[in-house]
Amino acid sequence: MSVYPQKSVNLHTHSDFCDHATGSVADYVAHAHQAGLKVLGMTEHAPVPGNPISCNMMYEDLPRYVRTVRSQDSPDLRVLLGCECDFEPVLENYYRDELLGKYGFDYLICSIHLYFDFEQRAMCFASKSRDFSRYLSDYVARYCRALESGIFLFGCHPDLFRASYLPWDENARLASRDIIQCAVENNIPLEINGCGLRKPQVPAPEGPRCPYSTDEFYALARDMGALICLSSDAHQPSLVAGLLTPDGISDTRAMADRLGITPVSWSIGSTGAQAIPPEPAAV
Ligand SMILES: [Zn+2]
Ligand SMILES: [Zn+2]
Repeated sequence: MSVYPQKSVNLHTHSDFCDHATGSVADYVAHAHQAGLKVLGMTEHAPVPGNPISCNMMYEDLPRYVRTVRSQDSPDLRVLLGCECDFEPVLENYYRDELLGKYGFDYLICSIHLYFDFEQRAMCFASKSRDFSRYLSDYVARYCRALESGIFLFGCHPDLFRASYLPWDENARLASRDIIQCAVENNIPLEINGCGLRKPQVPAPEGPRCPYSTDEFYALARDMGALICLSSDAHQPSLVAGLLTPDGISDTRAMADRLGITPVSWSIGSTGAQAIPPEPAAV
């Protein structure tokens, strides 16, 4: 069991096992070495039997994914086997019994990318809705249920709903508060997500801002005492450690510093990863 600071760990990474990311797992390993990482977690969008989610890894590729990631682990660079799981209550047992159980994944992380749009009668992206106000409470309920399930290491881009629900109003504050409170009660970190920082800004009433990984959400999380972790959510190998600022730190780290947030550290052992809360600041 070894403890690593967040800056030498990235636990949210996508390879060409899904069709919207580039680079093989080996490419990521090479870039992680160059970037000085000590722990690299691969978290393909979790495959689901029948492949109902078209942009996720195909279910048929699951055994090859497991073998590929396992073959890259080394003492110099720990490579962990994970998945980013789109949470639906109906999938909870599958994630637990097959991914963690049968395939022995080191860890899983949760997100809500999709929702059922009753006007369009289809599953749609929560980040691309024209009017997400009707679906905000469903997003919060499913995100909290994912956090409460006990099968996820941390919550990914919890404020993704802000890409489709633009104002920072009472609804947005209450939705954020509910998710953060749930994370605090379940002692599970929420992630500042590099992808959200790198995407084009959205025209919020308060002014242009990142679609997610937003200051308002994480300032609230800081004030409520939530554990915070940092991930690049890289979809190409060169971003494995995030986009570097002129000061040479990652974009997510720069945001945490600006907001006065100290991220967790990670304990990595033979049975996966565990978040270690930061030391309380000296008074
Ligand atoms: Zn995601
Ligand atoms: Zn991701």
